Amino acid sequence: TTGQIIRCKAAVAWEAGKPLVMEEVEVAPPQKHEVRIKILFTSLCHTDVYFWEAKGQTPLFPRILGHEAGGFVESVGEGVTDLQPGDHVLPIFTGECGDCPHCQSEESNMCDLLRINTERVGMIHDGESRFSINGKPINHFLGTSTFSEYTVVHSGQVAKINPEAPLDKVCIVSCGLSTGLGATLNVAKPKKGQSVAVFGLGAVGLAAAEGARIAGASRIIGVDLNPNRFEQAKKFGVTEFVNPREHDKPVQQVIAEMTNGGVDRSVECTGSVQAMIQAFECVHDGWGVAVLVGVPSKDDAFKTHPMNFLNERTLKGTFFGNYKPKTDIPGVVEKYMNKELELEKFITHTLPFSEINKAFDYMLKGESIRCIITMGA
Ligand code: NAD
Ligand code: ZN
Repeated sequence: TTGQIIRCKAAVAWEAGKPLVMEEVEVAPPQKHEVRIKILFTSLCHTDVYFWEAKGQTPLFPRILGHEAGGFVESVGEGVTDLQPGDHVLPIFTGECGDCPHCQSEESNMCDLLRINTERVGMIHDGESRFSINGKPINHFLGTSTFSEYTVVHSGQVAKINPEAPLDKVCIVSCGLSTGLGATLNVAKPKKGQSVAVFGLGAVGLAAAEGARIAGASRIIGVDLNPNRFEQAKKFGVTEFVNPREHDKPVQQVIAEMTNGGVDRSVECTGSVQAMIQAFECVHDGWGVAVLVGVPSKDDAFKTHPMNFLNERTLKGTFFGNYKPKTDIPGVVEKYMNKELELEKFITHTLPFSEINKAFDYMLKGESIRCIITMGA
């Protein structure tokens, strides 16, 4: 198939909020610095749902969504030297070119060339799409578009992983798991014995809680509007729960009262701007650090009194848990292989590709943590 167009199945989002339609698409061969990947497993992350609903986002349809996945390299384009056909890989929504000031910095994963870009609908090389139906181009999403049996990705957005790693489990490392885990371990950095509040107990928040557990946090306070999340979250070491709907007082105040002035660290994983403000204002003055992870709506604005900063609280944000996709992600997979990390508890549902729309229902109803979709089924 090298150098040829591949015809395969893809789930196409034609319109905002309408069920995806299974279509036969043509996938062009990879061009310069690109690889074509056969996707074996993909899962659904809330970011896919946001861009599918396109409520607070620019609608860019028709589009092939999907960014949490695992598969192997089918063929490589010109200039790709670090990947070859057969390599087991995770495509990643943000990349690492290796050369820019961000890639050269130890602190940043915000690559100048390949950082997340939700509005880019073609490939960087020529701005064109590699997907088409009867000659009509279909938009890419986050440079990954994994709701397709084959996809084309910039080689800087591809992490090569241990071929022994089960792709039906480690596919979740390509977004949600690493995002939450890294937000805690790499950005919030709780010290052993500190308290951590996690806002939003979906996969990303539970991965943040997993990070808090690994860091030796003494208390992990889970905050969610959906009480069904609390039972699940116990498996992730969450020790106390706050449902903002059950209190007359602001959550910040509830948490301050529970913790003698505030938590040491908080990680926001909801996408709600109210929760972002709460997550910041609930950290202890003098040393508290809050980390924002949730993707806000286009017109959101973060409002807080500047005195909250003067009182020595720190606010940070992160994409992808500050991990460099190519350099760091193989190591996160190894943590799973060495049994330091548990992935099975994140996977609550599985579906064949033909039933991918059900995965949207599970997420919208708040029933699933992660639903693994088997391609070719
Ligand atoms: P999810 O829908 O599974 O979980 C979100 C949870 O937040 C739900 O349980 C929901 O009930 C809860 N919630 C919503 N509003 C709330 C509020 N005001 N207060 C308390 N809880 C609230 O989603 P997910 O897949 O875990 O993703 C979580 C967020 O992280 C999303 O915004 C997603 O877009 C974002 N995300 C960011 C990155 C990044 O790199 N920064 C990467 C992946 C996902
Ligand atoms: Zn770079």
